[in-house]
Amino acid sequence: MSHLQTVERIVFDAGRSVPEKAEAVINFFTGLPGHGLSAAAECLATTQDERVASFVATQLQMLPGGNAEKTRAARSLRARGTSVVRAAARLVPWLPDDLLGEFVSDYLAAPEQRSARSSVLFSIALYRPDLVRPHAHLIEDDSIQRSLLSEAPDELADAFFQSWKEADDDIDILHALSLIRTDHAADLIRSLRDELQEPEDWEALMELAGRLPEGGSSGYRPSFMGFVVDQGESPHAMGGPGTGSVPLCPLCQTPAEHVLTVAAGVAPFRLSTDAEFFWYSCDCHAVDSTTIRSTDVGRHIYFGPQGPAAAESHLIPGVRSMALEPHPNQAGISLEAIPGQFQHQVGGLPRWVEADLHPVCPECGKSMPFLASVDSGHTPFGPIGFDGTLFCFWCDGCQVSSTKYQA
Ligand SMILES: [Zn+2]
Ligand SMILES: [Zn+2]
Repeated sequence: MSHLQTVERIVFDAGRSVPEKAEAVINFFTGLPGHGLSAAAECLATTQDERVASFVATQLQMLPGGNAEKTRAARSLRARGTSVVRAAARLVPWLPDDLLGEFVSDYLAAPEQRSARSSVLFSIALYRPDLVRPHAHLIEDDSIQRSLLSEAPDELADAFFQSWKEADDDIDILHALSLIRTDHAADLIRSLRDELQEPEDWEALMELAGRLPEGGSSGYRPSFMGFVVDQGESPHAMGGPGTGSVPLCPLCQTPAEHVLTVAAGVAPFRLSTDAEFFWYSCDCHAVDSTTIRSTDVGRHIYFGPQGPAAAESHLIPGVRSMALEPHPNQAGISLEAIPGQFQHQVGGLPRWVEADLHPVCPECGKSMPFLASVDSGHTPFGPIGFDGTLFCFWCDGCQVSSTKYQA
């Protein structure tokens, strides 16, 4: 039986739910050489079924690299000219400019919201807003327009600033201005320090625009996409058995689990020590953040009970690591995130589910820069054991980590 036939048998099986189909397809490909990179690309190049294409493209979306295979598959999807092209939306971060330009032209030739081509265009607007911006006046979709805020020209920043002055304190306009994330936009936000009634509003806008209120960048640079890969494939560890003392859930006393460690000394961040991030595996949702400091004599846990770590990990499936690839949108995606899409990030600026203040370091009292986000959803090794997204902040001077949860 060919790889495509195996996948079709899973996808067309009426006895399985959609999540069961997704997991079965992932299990199948992950068991193949290279976690099924070549096999999945081959399936995409031949299938005529939109559902099959979507499940298969999900596997490719979870794997770092493979630009040649992903590009070949996307070209083939486009050449078929049917609704299977929607699957190419998942491959956009790896596609060359000429092919992305062709996808943009395809949409403009037959502009239609919610079409397969508009899905690809939407993805291009997230990762490469520069390629879509020249055609912005031809596109009605609100999500695409919001995505195009990222690195928008100074004229638009000035226009937002002017309309805020005329609109009598409309904070939404300033949010949009912050999400442009250029130096010019951040300068405009900074100039409002004494004009906004709530100091917290100004601080949150500054952080969103890319600067800490106390100065310096609100995120470590540059920005990477993160991918869950096997243990040892990357120096940045995920999951695994717990060690030492960890935060406990204040309601049920379940120990928090290790989610991610951004390794010290590794380019480009060169942190002074390993930045460890933890989260709770219970469903209490008793707190929305946890803050720790790693020292030579063990961890110090702020604001809550602590106790020995659990021997097993439920949040990350097994002992894994996080591979990094340069993010195509270094300024940061402007459109708010929907959790569960396995969109992990290290460095850059946070793509919040809902814009929020950065945590304040309990040692030095300064706002903490963003270091990483760990999303939920699929991995090649099974699903992540929480819903929502974790946002990870790190004060390198004090070696304090803070993990913040958004549903
Ligand atoms: Zn609990
Ligand atoms: Zn600090």
